[in-house]
Amino acid sequence: MHRQVRKAMQQVFTDVFDSQDYILGRHVEAFERAWAARCGTMHAVGVSNGLDAIRLSLEVLGVGPGDEVIVPSNTYIATVLAVSAVGAQPVFAEPDIHTCNLDPHQIRAVRTARTKAVIPVHLYGQACVMDAIMAAAEGLDVVEDNAQAHGAAYAGRPTGGWGRVNATSFFPTKNLGALGDAGALTTSDTALAARAAVLRNYGSGRKYYNETIGYNMRLDELQAAFLSVKLDYLDAWTADRRRIAAQYTAGLDGLGDLRLPCTAPNADHVYHIYQIRTVFRDALQSHLSARGIGSLVHYPQPPYLQEAYKDLGYRRGDFPIAESVADTCLSLPIWPGMNETEVASVIGGIKDFYSKTPAS
Ligand SMILES: *Cc1c(COP(=O)(O)O)cnc(C)c1O
Repeated sequence: MHRQVRKAMQQVFTDVFDSQDYILGRHVEAFERAWAARCGTMHAVGVSNGLDAIRLSLEVLGVGPGDEVIVPSNTYIATVLAVSAVGAQPVFAEPDIHTCNLDPHQIRAVRTARTKAVIPVHLYGQACVMDAIMAAAEGLDVVEDNAQAHGAAYAGRPTGGWGRVNATSFFPTKNLGALGDAGALTTSDTALAARAAVLRNYGSGRKYYNETIGYNMRLDELQAAFLSVKLDYLDAWTADRRRIAAQYTAGLDGLGDLRLPCTAPNADHVYHIYQIRTVFRDALQSHLSARGIGSLVHYPQPPYLQEAYKDLGYRRGDFPIAESVADTCLSLPIWPGMNETEVASVIGGIKDFYSKTPAS
């Protein structure tokens, strides 16, 4: 990926360097326009990272102490930390066992009179069933966590464009990644976008005048410029991820106890992660590692079991689907440009493992 963009990235570095304009300038504005267009919203507000993007989204919606926010029991910790950061209470809801994405029925099951918002997470790059989620979240604010699903859509409508305010991360490893930390909110509500823009910049709409107590959560000019260069490649990179995923699926279908990624009807998958599940996960990971094949576990411990959340009082067994995903999931290598031989060697390693695993 980086070979493809090297020249263009060096050029924009030189442009920004020479401009001597490094904070909230034309590159941030240009990227915000382009990102809003991709998400089908009127506005995007560039911010410092994904966690801050979710946090600010909740804050501009007025979510705070005394409010409950529904999050998936199997999400990445940042979704939950954002809820805690605004002083609200995270309430976990189980995912669908096939897609691993938030189950709309579970939203209905856990919502109470204090529920203020729901954060669907398009996990692994697969769009949530947004029509059913919007229906289950009727009367609540929906904030999509679109950190893993850049360029995905549900029923043809982009992720990051469904909720009232949505958040994303451009951490370097995401499908669209900066060369450092970066994130953004998207919304079609002009007043909320303006409020987020003020909050990210010390609570100041006019230089040296502060209308509210804000933060420094700005997106850098350099990162915005890099992101604009890479955004032009996103569709081609997504197509390449899908090619690799298709080769994995064709090569691994029906093997042993493997569960392959399973998408809901109308839900795009942009394969931020190609995740398989097996009860032999740890042994398979060691087997691949011995052959020089890297793999990762996204994520080994659900958020409600983290030490940081021990005060919430959850125990193992509280969310069996999230725990089963955590115990069995393995993410295979996938990156734009990964060639057919490389994919085949991963498939070969897995086939070899199952040929030697008696209980499979
Ligand atoms: C990466 C990620 C985040 C956080 O993004 P940062 O930019 O690292 O703060 C939030 N949610 C999900 C689902 C992510 O994958």
